[in-house]
Amino acid sequence: MVLLIVALILVAIGGLTIRLGPRWPRRLLFRAPAGIIIHHTATGSTVEGEVVDVSTIDRWHEQRGFSAEYRGHVYHVGYHYVILPDGTVQQGRPEWMIGAHTSGFNDHLGICLVGNFDSRANPNHAQQPAVPTEAQMDALYELLEKLMAKYRFEPEDIRGHNELGCTACPGDRFPIEELREKLRTRN
Ligand SMILES: [Zn+2]
Repeated sequence: MVLLIVALILVAIGGLTIRLGPRWPRRLLFRAPAGIIIHHTATGSTVEGEVVDVSTIDRWHEQRGFSAEYRGHVYHVGYHYVILPDGTVQQGRPEWMIGAHTSGFNDHLGICLVGNFDSRANPNHAQQPAVPTEAQMDALYELLEKLMAKYRFEPEDIRGHNELGCTACPGDRFPIEELREKLRTRN
């Protein structure tokens, strides 16, 4: 009984999720997300000649040991969405699944923009995009509006990774304040 209670608490805080297999009912994995966290890949649009997209990130995260399995499909990518420089939005792990992107805040949806928007890590813009592209910001804004309506988030529920953890991500060239201000003043 004590073990069961401990297990349920772990599930509630997300600690057991990565060990849950496909036979667990979906409702044990589900919870409404607490907010949204924005990331960047801290790479250019290609790495060693290979385009960086959701499947590339899925492989990187597999190597880092991120995985969540549901009904025979194993998701490694820790983000729920990836946005390419041309504005294409790719689905990562399903929205109802806990993320693997921000220590202590994986109950939030994770959205990752491909690029390196940090002026210390990418001072000479060698990695492109070095600032989020207009297409990326438009796609992100549209996605945020949709998710905010769906989960009743406020602009304050949208955070950059660096506002919650000791990291530069998504970089000082990512306009998080402007984004929240635009979301506040939307009609
Ligand atoms: Zn991040």
